[in-house]
Amino acid sequence: MKKALVIGGGFAGCSAAHLLSLQGGWDITVVESGPWLGGGCKTLWYGGHPYTFGPRHFLTQNVPVFDYLNKYCPLRRCNDHVFLTYVEKDAQFYNYPIHIDDVARMPEKDQINKELTEAKQLNGAGAAKDFEEYWLASIGRTLYDKFVNTYSKKMWMLDDNKVMDDFSWSPKGVALKEGPRQAWDTAISAYPIAPNGYDDYFEIATRAEGVKVLWTTIEQYDLPNKTVVIDGEKRTYDAIINTASPDLVMDNAFGELPYIGRDFIKFVLPIAHAFPKDVYFLYYASDEPFTRLVEYKQFTRINYDAESTIIGMEIPSKNGRYYPLPLKTEYERAQKYFDAMGENVFSIGRCGSYQYRVDVDDCIAQAMDSVEKLK
Ligand SMILES: Cc1cc2nc3c(=O)[nH]c(=O)nc-3n(C[C@H](O)[C@H](O)[C@H](O)COP(=O)(O)OP(=O)(O)OC[C@H]3O[C@@H](n4cnc5c(N)ncnc54)[C@H](O)[C@@H]3O)c2cc1C
Repeated sequence: MKKALVIGGGFAGCSAAHLLSLQGGWDITVVESGPWLGGGCKTLWYGGHPYTFGPRHFLTQNVPVFDYLNKYCPLRRCNDHVFLTYVEKDAQFYNYPIHIDDVARMPEKDQINKELTEAKQLNGAGAAKDFEEYWLASIGRTLYDKFVNTYSKKMWMLDDNKVMDDFSWSPKGVALKEGPRQAWDTAISAYPIAPNGYDDYFEIATRAEGVKVLWTTIEQYDLPNKTVVIDGEKRTYDAIINTASPDLVMDNAFGELPYIGRDFIKFVLPIAHAFPKDVYFLYYASDEPFTRLVEYKQFTRINYDAESTIIGMEIPSKNGRYYPLPLKTEYERAQKYFDAMGENVFSIGRCGSYQYRVDVDDCIAQAMDSVEKLK
C-alpha cells in the first residue's frame, strides 16, 4: 500500500482523497484543521434556510467533471438564471456580462456605441498588458467606468486596476454579450439537489476505502521530502496533495502570498422571494461596500415556498485568505513554491494553486489530474 497525505478537507482535498481511493492501492490520510469538511462549500443553516459563505454554485464546461460530481452529489441544472449588476449612477440594474441590448437603455448610449465601434476597429484587447487596458480595449471607457472600474478596485481592495497585470481569468470573449441574457448559456450551471448541498459528497469522499480524516493541525512541514510532523510524530508519504496556501506549508520561504478576504452577512427577509424569478445573484458595481448579494432559495429550491427568504452579502475585507490576488509578481512567487515542492507533491485548489479563477469544478479537475499523474 502506498501512503498519501491530503492537506485540507475542502472541495479539492475531498475530491483528491476520493479519487485516490477509486484508483486503489492507497492508504490516504486527510488532515483537516477546521471544524468541518468541505471548507467554504459547507452548508450552514439560518432561519430554516440552507446557505453557504458566498454562492458556491457549480458552473463548468467540463462534462467529465460534471458527470463525476453528479454521480455522488446529484445536481439540479439551473442554466435559466441571469446575473444583474446595479449601477448607481444610472439607478439601474443591467445584465452581466454586459449585454449589447442594454446599451440602448443607457443615458450615454451614443457615446458608448462610438467607443464600441472604435474598440472593434482597434481590436486591441488581445495585446493588452494589464487588466484595465484589456477592458478599455474591449468595451471602451464609458462601459468600463460603469461596470468594471469601481467594482474591480472594490473587489481587490486596490487603488489602481493597472497593477493587475494578469487578466487571463477575466471573462474573455464575453466582455460584451449578445444573444441569450442567461450568463452561462455555454456552460453547465447546477446546484446540489440535497438540502445539505455538497455535504454528503464530502462524507462519501472521506469514508471511501482507504481514507481516514485526522482532525488536527500539522506541526511541521517538509514537503520536498514528503514528510510532516503530526502529534509529535514524523510521518513520510509517497505522495502529498496540498490544498493549503503554498507559503503556509513551505515555511514562508519565498515570502507571504497576499489574499483578499471577505466579511459575510446573512439575513432573513419576511417575504417569500426577494429577487425576480430568474435572478440568483446581484452584483453591485458602485461605491456600496458590498460586491454581491445571493438569494439562496433560488439555487437550493429548499423551502422555496416558505414565507421568508435568506440573502447573503459579501463585503471585501482583509479577513481570511479567500481570493489570491491576480498579480503577475505574486503568481511568480507562487511558482517558486511549486517548483520547490518536489516530485509527487501536488498543490491544488483555490489557495493551493494560488489561482483566483479556480472554482469548484477546477478543484475537481485538478484533483483528477494529480491522481492521474500518481498512477
Ligand atoms: C465567497 C466565495 C464564493 C464562491 N462562490 C463560488 C461559486 O459560486 N462557484 C464556484 O465554482 N466557486 C466559488 N468559489 C470558489 C470555490 O468555492 C473554491 O474554489 C473552492 O471551494 C475551493 O476549495 P478548496 O478545497 O481549494 O478550499 P477551501 O474550501 O478553502 O477548503 C480548504 C480546507 O482546507 C483546510 N485547511 C486549510 N489549511 C489547512 C492546513 N494547513 N492543514 C489542514 N487543513 C487546512 C480548511 O480548513 C478547509 O476546510 C467561491 C469562493 C468564495 C471565497
